Amino acid sequence: MAIINFGSINIDHVYQVDHFVQPGETIASSHYQCLLGGKGANQSIALARAGSEVRHVGKINETDVAFKQTMIRDGIDCKHVTCTETASGHAIIQVTPSAENAIVLFGGANHEMTPKDIMYALDIVKSADWVLTQNETNNIDQVLSQAKAKGLKVAFNPAPMTESVKHLPHECIDLLIVNEVEAEEISGRQDLDKMEDYFRQDWPHAEVLITLGKAGVRMLKKDKTINVPAFEVDAVDTTAAGDTFIGYFLSAYSNHADSKTALIRACAASALAVMKMGAAQSIPNKEDVNRFLAKQNLSGRH
Ligand code: ADP
Repeated sequence: MAIINFGSINIDHVYQVDHFVQPGETIASSHYQCLLGGKGANQSIALARAGSEVRHVGKINETDVAFKQTMIRDGIDCKHVTCTETASGHAIIQVTPSAENAIVLFGGANHEMTPKDIMYALDIVKSADWVLTQNETNNIDQVLSQAKAKGLKVAFNPAPMTESVKHLPHECIDLLIVNEVEAEEISGRQDLDKMEDYFRQDWPHAEVLITLGKAGVRMLKKDKTINVPAFEVDAVDTTAAGDTFIGYFLSAYSNHADSKTALIRACAASALAVMKMGAAQSIPNKEDVNRFLAKQNLSGRH
């Protein structure tokens, strides 16, 4: 059983600056890092570190194949990561001493997914396979509908949220994973219980996961609602918390773990991620998660 992730691959250029650059100003940066990023790549990394077989489908510029190698080294099947002449998706990120950031994002190659790419990637699949996608690549409607037509389970994380999400073929989605902001934008409600009412009424075909930051997560299943609190940890950087959560949840859930077990495991993995700086580099491996959970069980939590 594999998880086929149609997802973005971004190159994050991270600049340490004293303050955000102002109109007309040129400032020097004291530190620079060039890192693999993008919600798609992060979620593939989380799935692979959780122990799943993950096939990434995406596009990068041919000069950036080193980033594809990084993903392959992390255990991701990148046969369907192909090259294009368009610049790779990338982000210019300014980070200030108080850890605030300002980001310019260019979608680039992430928006070059063709109907043929989607068809090839879904050509040889097993009925138990899952398809996962986010909102950083193009032709998402076709990914959702072709995956469903193949009889696969479909998970969708509409991040970053845009108006276009409301026009996607919702009936193709089996598992919707949103944070509180996305849930609010989709439902038009601010209160969690009212969001639940909305999803139960308008998304009866889908299971819905609403992640709530340090408050944990709520899962809406057909017959019940499951709430799982987050682990209490000292958070230093919440970047990629959601991506880690999604990778670890889907890895366990697609492997037939019961919902609560999968949710606790995903909360543990994302708690570990927020204790570390950075995006992909903060995503833990499964041994770290096992150790963390064993410690929590000993101390009587969860
Ligand atoms: P996103 O990063 O997509 O906005 P959330 O902020 O909801 O997503 O975080 C996803 C999950 O990460 C939460 O459900 C929770 O389990 C975990 N998490 C996030 N912030 C913290 C925190 N400060 N402490 C512990 N766990 C956290």
